[in-house]
Amino acid sequence: MRRPSFFYHELGHALIHVLDLPTTGRQEYAVDQLSTYVLAYESEAGDSPTLDAALAFLAWAQEAKVAQADSPYWDEHSLNEQRFLNLVYWVYGQDPERFQHLVQQGHLPESRAVRCPGEWQQIDKSWTVLLDPHLTGQ
Ligand SMILES: [Zn+2]
Repeated sequence: MRRPSFFYHELGHALIHVLDLPTTGRQEYAVDQLSTYVLAYESEAGDSPTLDAALAFLAWAQEAKVAQADSPYWDEHSLNEQRFLNLVYWVYGQDPERFQHLVQQGHLPESRAVRCPGEWQQIDKSWTVLLDPHLTGQ
């Protein structure tokens, strides 16, 4: 059974608290990265559970636009549009060839896509460094 991205987002908050992990920047942003990091290893073919979460953020953003609701820019979370795009960028960065459809469908401009692999490598390296000591029992 695949757990949704939101499960790992909340688990990330718990891990940061329990393991006293450092973050540089907002914790909400860091745990979106952690969720994407964990689920990167559960992705199949051109599918990713992280993309399911991304689509939920896009749907919520579109609902708010239709309802003419104010964007909660003061919230500790990024705006739903930003969270949608971040998740799409990070998933694409994991394997540009496998997720080429994200560019072809217009979710990701080519000019932004070229920077995604490097951004993903930094996220992957950071979470590996932070979690490895706890996963290996050292
Ligand atoms: Zn959160």
